[in-house]
Amino acid sequence: MATGVANDRSHRDPRDRVELSSVPTPRAEATRRSAANAEPARKKFLQIWYRCCHTYGRLTRNRDNTAFEGRCPSCGARCEAKIGHGGSTRRAFEAG
Ligand SMILES: [Zn+2]
Repeated sequence: MATGVANDRSHRDPRDRVELSSVPTPRAEATRRSAANAEPARKKFLQIWYRCCHTYGRLTRNRDNTAFEGRCPSCGARCEAKIGHGGSTRRAFEAG
């Protein structure tokens, strides 16, 4: 009987299609990688000069990433430096 050959061929075709669709597309992999690189390595701390006590201190980023906050190590005065305007290039801020 020649029908056995026809059946064998029809079973093989759908199997090949399944294997092709299961291969991850390289484009999806590249998108995931670029998304990770898109997040810039933002500074977690900011150096600040407290004029009130003539001392340096550090500000830490707040939870919402909207500002750096800290306290003068000597007198405890609160200080805040807003984050924005495309990112500041200044390395040190003054307070007091
Ligand atoms: Zn102070």
